[in-house]
Amino acid sequence: MPGVIGLYKFRVTQDQMSDIKSEIKKEVARRKTFAIISHPDAGKTTLTEKLLLYGGAIRLAGSVKARKANKYAVSDWMEIEKQRGISVTSSVMQFDYSGFCINILDTPGHQDFSEDTYRTLVAADSAVMLIDGAKGVEAQTIKLFHVCKLRGIPIFTFVNKMDRASKDPFELMEEIERVLGIRSYPMNWPIGTEGDFKGVYNRKLKQIELFDGGEHGQSQVSSTVGKADDPVFADLLGSHYHDKLCEDIELLDMAGDEFDKKKIRSGELTPLFFGSAMTNFGVQPFLEEFLELAPSPGIVDTAEGEVDPESDKFSGFIFKIQANMNPTHRDRLAFLRICSGKFSKGMSVKHMNTGKEIRLSQPQQFMAQERTIVDEAYAGDIIGLFDPGIFNLGDTLFEGNGNVRFEGIPIFPAEYFARVTPADTMKRKQFIKGIDQLSEEGAIQVFKQIDIGIEALIIGVVGALQFEVLEYRLKNEYGVQLRLQNLPYRHARWIENEGLDPRKLNLPSTAVIVEDKLGRNSILFENEWSIRMAEERNKELRLVDIATQD
Ligand code: GDP
Repeated sequence: MPGVIGLYKFRVTQDQMSDIKSEIKKEVARRKTFAIISHPDAGKTTLTEKLLLYGGAIRLAGSVKARKANKYAVSDWMEIEKQRGISVTSSVMQFDYSGFCINILDTPGHQDFSEDTYRTLVAADSAVMLIDGAKGVEAQTIKLFHVCKLRGIPIFTFVNKMDRASKDPFELMEEIERVLGIRSYPMNWPIGTEGDFKGVYNRKLKQIELFDGGEHGQSQVSSTVGKADDPVFADLLGSHYHDKLCEDIELLDMAGDEFDKKKIRSGELTPLFFGSAMTNFGVQPFLEEFLELAPSPGIVDTAEGEVDPESDKFSGFIFKIQANMNPTHRDRLAFLRICSGKFSKGMSVKHMNTGKEIRLSQPQQFMAQERTIVDEAYAGDIIGLFDPGIFNLGDTLFEGNGNVRFEGIPIFPAEYFARVTPADTMKRKQFIKGIDQLSEEGAIQVFKQIDIGIEALIIGVVGALQFEVLEYRLKNEYGVQLRLQNLPYRHARWIENEGLDPRKLNLPSTAVIVEDKLGRNSILFENEWSIRMAEERNKELRLVDIATQD
């Protein structure tokens, strides 16, 4: 009776499908993927460690720090690069906490590698902006904030180092609004900001959480908790602190923004938390609120339609490529952010750019300390794929028929430029190969000066240190010694007008017209002033500072 068998089979398949679907739904809902953005020294390493500590991912704080010692010197960075394992493990840290599966995307601390940070933010569903309470909003934070703003992701602010003297918290709120253009909602409020930190008032639970000096972060510290109007606290704090707190809270309630989850989710309002990562004060309440408010992976718009993270079809895009993980094998690792469906080891997917089927046989996932082979992963997760040289930044991989193409990865404006040639002209072929490779990784941007031709390429980088990395890698990996001539340009702008001949523009004499590697016209400027001059002299000219990789 084939009909019955057919029917039976059909029913089993349907059941299995609905099992997979509900499993995917459940897994997506518990995923939180975010990056921490901050200025160097604000305490990102310390906070990351403490978060991992709550997840039980590391037993003793200090292990994240171990790799950080290599942060500043190029030679040390090279050493890390030689043993890529170390920098790779730091690319994403996954751990479970209270039923959630948390992915922290790590970003290089040194601003000279901020290009990498910018791109990593493309894979995040939200960001934690860490501010040093005494310093306020600093330069690197501003840049990274703008990338988050551009993507419209929710931003959670943690004001750190409250155990020390800090700026006045109202002043900090004003600064965040003035400098970054975002309003904030204090979730808690510090008591004693002149080096006399007593703790915070938790606005949601309406309770005071007392700072007990902490144990300097070697273990989890619990806060002392009680209602604000508890006479014990008035006694404990003393009338000076208690009165000031009551006044501050009244002012916030009256004149401050209302708590608005929608505005938080759309990136218009940032929840503000005061704490101290080093002494572990306020980290756990922050983590718990963050997990409640931060979005799980959401729907992604593509030219081919919406991609639902709960779909049973796998899809994802590559946002980072690291070459030569193992110097003896010269392989590359491509980092893929999963956007929908379920990943299973060994599955076959379509590579959008070549149309080829690819089997994902040895995917890697990264914990705080070691790489592991991943068997299953879901939307929001990051997996590392061995790349035989077929992947480019922004490439889409997906399962099923039809097409999916995620939006290109943004290229951020380079700030340093140099004319680069091989010292030995016989090595031109290797030179081009190396330059191509590094530009595919997004580490450098390649420009061609229109009237000079391809002999002298102009390389743009986001941080000056990347030139040293370029020289080092070309020498070590391609055997090419570089001749590098620094140029005075500081800004690259792409010309948006189609069909406009840039040679007909009336530009300041110091500006130079170039083409990027996709043949798009751009102009390099020495300063903001010349950009304005170019725009004033050529009213029709439309310049943009962020383009996409493809
Ligand atoms: P990163 O450069 O942002 O990763 O910053 P680190 O986590 O390395 O911190 C920079 C310095 O600030 C280190 O000396 C930390 O011990 C210190 N630090 C971090 N958090 C706190 C804090 O809450 N209070 C104080 N007083 N110092 C902190």
